[in-house]
Amino acid sequence: MFELEKLIRNNIKKLTPYSSARDEFSGEAKVFLDANENSLGSPLLKWYNRYPDPHQLAVKEKLAQVKGIGSQHIFLGNGSDECIDLLFRSFCEPGRDNVIICPPTYGMYEVSAHINDVELRKAPLLDDFQLDLVHLENLVDTHTKLIWLCSPNNPTGNSLNRTDIEMVLNNFKGIVVIDEAYINFARQKSFVQELTEYPNLVVMQTLSKAWGLAGLRLGMAFASASIIEVLNKVKPPYNINQATQELVLKALEEVGQVNDMIHLLVDMRQALTEVFLSMPTVEKVYPSDANFILVKIKDARKIYEFLLTKGIVLRDRSNVKLCEDCLRITVGTEKENTILVDAMQDWYAQ
Ligand SMILES: *Cc1c(COP(=O)(O)O)cnc(C)c1O
Repeated sequence: MFELEKLIRNNIKKLTPYSSARDEFSGEAKVFLDANENSLGSPLLKWYNRYPDPHQLAVKEKLAQVKGIGSQHIFLGNGSDECIDLLFRSFCEPGRDNVIICPPTYGMYEVSAHINDVELRKAPLLDDFQLDLVHLENLVDTHTKLIWLCSPNNPTGNSLNRTDIEMVLNNFKGIVVIDEAYINFARQKSFVQELTEYPNLVVMQTLSKAWGLAGLRLGMAFASASIIEVLNKVKPPYNINQATQELVLKALEEVGQVNDMIHLLVDMRQALTEVFLSMPTVEKVYPSDANFILVKIKDARKIYEFLLTKGIVLRDRSNVKLCEDCLRITVGTEKENTILVDAMQDWYAQ
């Protein structure tokens, strides 16, 4: 049995959330004198003098269409990073509760755990970068509130086996967070459609990757209406700014354009994989379900530094456990990929 009430921190359960001016009156009116805004306007862009919609209703309705779920199942954060922090703050009692991550994985789960003084337990991925279910199960105790799964995983690029994820969802009494930041590049399908099946599921996605909107900062958490309610209670009232809400609303009309980019990036991922596989010191290019590849290569650190001198920046993961000698390479534009490959020829020629 999943009991959400038992997972929420007491202070959050008791919390009376901040009631903003736009909460207390949200209808149509002629004269708004309730929020101490500058009624005269703003420089450059006249209409940014007003506070944005704290509930982001328009964006959520549009997203509900795009994702095929009800808007009561959508939470919006200032990037996924805010969603991550809010999950800690809502469910994990500092100094008492713990969470589990499966490294090598996205670094923010660990940082956020430390910021919130929440114990972090690690069940490293197996050699094939899949979940170690036995280890995972052994780490769970009565104070384990969250299990963080990242699929497709960063920095390894692979999707986690669906049956393994289902095993965790079916057996863990806390909340399972699946970070699907790279889901649009994957062969696997999203868990968003499984929300009705699993009351303990939170799926995170973002507009920062496939949607190409990292600069706007919009992260999404999809979950049961009662989990979403908790997150809404804890979030800062105006966490999604007006410019982001307006631009995202427009961008969400362009599903076709985004799908074209995804196809192109996936094709270039394949091409880049083949080029790297043909290089003499490359030991492995791990199969990727994301918009990056993980390359195991002799002298990874030295190559990283060599490329820096040419103005090319990769992500050096060579000192990360299970990613020894690995570089993480984002799929760039055709031109950027060519610059990288040419520079690699220079590396071999020197
Ligand atoms: C890039 C990335 C994110 C995105 O975070 P935002 O704050 O939404 O930009 C989330 N999770 C993972 C695993 C990522 O790699």
